[in-house]
Amino acid sequence: MKEKSIFEGKLIVLTAPSGGGKTTIKRHLLETYDDLGFSVSVTTRDKRPNESDGVDYYFKTSEEFYALRDADAFVEWEEVYEGLYYGTLKSEVDRLWRSKKHIIFDIDVKGAMDIKKLYADQCLAIFIRPPSIQVIVERLKARGTETEESLAKRIKRIEHEMSYESKFDTILVNDLLPVALKESELKIEGFLTIEKKSRVGKDVPDNDKTEEE
Ligand code: ADP
Ligand code: 5GP
Repeated sequence: MKEKSIFEGKLIVLTAPSGGGKTTIKRHLLETYDDLGFSVSVTTRDKRPNESDGVDYYFKTSEEFYALRDADAFVEWEEVYEGLYYGTLKSEVDRLWRSKKHIIFDIDVKGAMDIKKLYADQCLAIFIRPPSIQVIVERLKARGTETEESLAKRIKRIEHEMSYESKFDTILVNDLLPVALKESELKIEGFLTIEKKSRVGKDVPDNDKTEEE
């Protein structure tokens, strides 16, 4: 797969327990830097109302997922929650490097370790640490995207996910959001030679607003 790409960029893996802030931080980074692109994963979970197919995930049936797995289409894949599969497509890495983007991944702890093993120093694995388990449970409930069942599955996995923290290259504490967003920029700029989009004359936006200034 690697030799198919014209440009080999770097890889930024964002991992956190569910509700830890991956999506929020990922969006901020994608809005801040032109040179980053998001690896859209395949999932068999249901689409949330605010999500779009092909943007947030490629939503597939289990059968479609198994077919991709059997065709060796994934760089890595996991059954993150019982009966729910997630995977990173080789074609995504290829697509993003062809468009000369460094890649951001939002993947689980095991997937992160797989990517790190495969790409070593080309990859920065960031573990996003929430202030406490109680706080992420509250954030997850407030997000309002989960049913009772999916919330329970996510809460059950938090401690397991937290136990991986020391295996990551770096830790990003997500307590006060503006601080965490600024910290994410410092980590990215420390790892990549990258410039902010010209419109981003700001440091961190107030209230995480995204409009042009
Ligand atoms: P993940 O993608 O890791 O599951 P999200 O980015 O969706 O997590 O964050 C979970 C919820 O918490 C979202 O509603 C988000 O707006 C909110 N959130 C994220 N970071 C913070 C923070 N530092 N302070 C308060 N709320 C936050
Ligand atoms: P969610 O359902 O909340 O979007 O994601 C659930 C978990 O699956 C999160 O930890 C998320 O990072 C992880 N995930 C998303 N895509 C992938 C992927 O392609 N591979 C792996 N291993 N995990 C993923």
